[in-house]
Amino acid sequence: MKKIIDGRKIANEIMKEIGEQILLQEKKPGLAFLLVGDNPASQSYVSSKKKACALTGIRSTLLEFPTSIQESQLIKKIEELNRDPLIDGILVQLPLPSHIDEKKIMQAINPKKDVDGFHPLNVGKMLLGDDSALLPCTPLGIKTLLERSAIAVEGKHVVIIGRSNIVGKPLAALLMQKKKGCNATVTICHSQSDHLNEITTSADILVAAIGRPLFIKANMVKPNAVVIDVGIHRQQGKIVGDVDFETVFPIASKITPVPGGVGPMTIAMLLKNTLLSFFSLQRS
Ligand code: NAP
Repeated sequence: MKKIIDGRKIANEIMKEIGEQILLQEKKPGLAFLLVGDNPASQSYVSSKKKACALTGIRSTLLEFPTSIQESQLIKKIEELNRDPLIDGILVQLPLPSHIDEKKIMQAINPKKDVDGFHPLNVGKMLLGDDSALLPCTPLGIKTLLERSAIAVEGKHVVIIGRSNIVGKPLAALLMQKKKGCNATVTICHSQSDHLNEITTSADILVAAIGRPLFIKANMVKPNAVVIDVGIHRQQGKIVGDVDFETVFPIASKITPVPGGVGPMTIAMLLKNTLLSFFSLQRS
């Protein structure tokens, strides 16, 4: 049995499936990216997402704005895209400059075009287990990665380190749903958690979404646990995760690499959400 969970391979399979569905459509799904400022990491993320769109046949448009753009101007642009029949998905690349309220921007997006799954309506639907929700890409990517690697979460103790609104919290909400393929027992840890090692060593599946390079060491992992690394850090020209892969690999039963684990799945889920938005807008 392969120990490394190959997120890139699984993401490519999903993208192929999406591309096949798009080939059958006369009209092609359209996705708009809004990029504010010149943050190199944001530019690189948007560029990877645009390339993935092109591979599957999704039409993508990049709208770039200077850091000085006013919140009201950005909202006006989003409202135009909300009305545009050629646009099925809207993605505002985060983070935004500090003078712009991210919450207001997320709320301005038509929930049906909210391919990042950050609009409060979609977040609420996700918590309620409503299948019409557009789900946030990284948690959905992790859930799909587990499913496609035949790693059952039902009844398992999943420990997630990190409680952000984009990774930790929504992943907990997804995996604890009273639904087939979910039903996990979930524990969330954060920077104020006492006895972190005691909790992490009780995990059947450990998810690291901490934002600290190589934070998870072998002594924090139960032998034969599954380890999912969400972190992305550039260190001396290398990309590393939140998990110290070298030391954790020998004791884990399965582990995601960085790069090539959760990252490609996040992009694949963005494309999946765009296709779902496209179908749902066509029906309405
Ligand atoms: P975030 O908003 O900074 O959240 C980090 C979480 O980790 C917080 O809940 C924080 O606790 C917790 N934490 C920090 N230090 C800790 C410690 N010493 N012990 C226990 N918990 C600790 O980060 P994020 O946006 O969720 O992202 C996490 C990582 O994933 C980053 O490296 C990011 O670049 C990466 N990421 C990757 C993808 C992908 O597609 N692969 C997508 C999104 C994010 P508090 O809440 O108490 O501060």
